[in-house]
Amino acid sequence: MPKDRKTPDKRGYFGAFGGKFVPETLMCALEALEHELTKALKDGKFLSDLNYYLKYYAGRPTPLYFAKRLTEKLKGAKIYLKREDLAHTGAHKINNTLGQALLAKRMGKSRIIAETGAGQHGVATATVGAMFGFKCDVYMGTEDIKRQSLNVYRMKLMGARVIPVDSGSKTLKDATNEAIRDWVTNVRDTHYILGSVVGPHPYPFMVREFQSVIGKEAREEILRVEKRLPDFLIACVGGGSNSIGLFHPFAKDKKVRFIGVEAAGGGLSSKKHAATLIKGKTGVLHGSKSYLLQDKDGQVSMVHSISAGLDYPGVGPEHSYYKETGRASYVGVSDRDALFGFKLLSECEGIIPALEPSHAVYYASKIAPRLAMNKIIIVNLSGRGDKDIDIVKEHIRFK
Ligand SMILES: *Cc1c(COP(=O)(O)O)cnc(C)c1O
Repeated sequence: MPKDRKTPDKRGYFGAFGGKFVPETLMCALEALEHELTKALKDGKFLSDLNYYLKYYAGRPTPLYFAKRLTEKLKGAKIYLKREDLAHTGAHKINNTLGQALLAKRMGKSRIIAETGAGQHGVATATVGAMFGFKCDVYMGTEDIKRQSLNVYRMKLMGARVIPVDSGSKTLKDATNEAIRDWVTNVRDTHYILGSVVGPHPYPFMVREFQSVIGKEAREEILRVEKRLPDFLIACVGGGSNSIGLFHPFAKDKKVRFIGVEAAGGGLSSKKHAATLIKGKTGVLHGSKSYLLQDKDGQVSMVHSISAGLDYPGVGPEHSYYKETGRASYVGVSDRDALFGFKLLSECEGIIPALEPSHAVYYASKIAPRLAMNKIIIVNLSGRGDKDIDIVKEHIRFK
């Protein structure tokens, strides 16, 4: 990795990745957003407001929990869990939506919109919409609306409108296209809250800044209890926000190894996976250049994962940069192994994880036994599993 080069650069590039590939009408909006964000991140009032809501509304700091029984079972490295599942709404997404909602308020916007796949980001957006009194519209593919009816209902309870998207694969990619289209038309009164470290600059940077609270807290806490830095950070990668949020505050700690876990679905050699960094190639999707799953004609591939939150053909540009520079390594975990991780954590620790971080839990359980007992692993438990019970029921049966 180049020595302390600032990422992203002024044009929004992380090495060769990122940038702004958008229609002219959005250029102005992105520049205005970047301008306001830069000011806000230096403004004591903005930061203290954000901290206030993170603490009293979202319930931060979340614990860094030593998984004692899991560690004893695996007989290797010590495993700590960063408990984002305990944040309000049950996942890390709220860190980002609180930050962006405060920014939207600062910019005088009256309406917020979002895209959602599993519905977690939609719920986190509807939540801040209700709490700050924004009009709130959430775009969601009709396929996802069917798969995630609980989250659709939660959004409606909080007063959001859920707009069905029936084009393309009827999932997250298509919902994102529609949200961008809406923003182009309504940019004067509307802020688009993107849900991960993807999209045109300044989104990947902005979402990283808001999610970095995860890594900041984890770093402080591990130094307090272990008096040293961890050896491995492990997190699942969909768009890449919970992982970047954990990794970023450790970026300069060269000895801390980063492992991003992608969804290998039915297997990396099948066509049914969402392992963008492992199997993809450079391309442009949703306004930025990054790794992308595409066919030989450049058509965006259909993707699959048992966890709807990892089911996305793109990935944040900073991860592509981390991959190229070797700062992070990326591995795949299949649907079947993720289910194993899901059950393992439920049984060993009484914590039912979301299917997304179950991929990371599984990978940690695979490497921990091969490591010395004085090594330390932090796994980001990005969300809780209640939303996934119906899916898991089809795979794990009891007498
Ligand atoms: C949305 C989601 C993810 C995937 O998104 P990232 O941007 O990669 O973090 C992972 N885990 C949970 C619980 C989610 O809700």
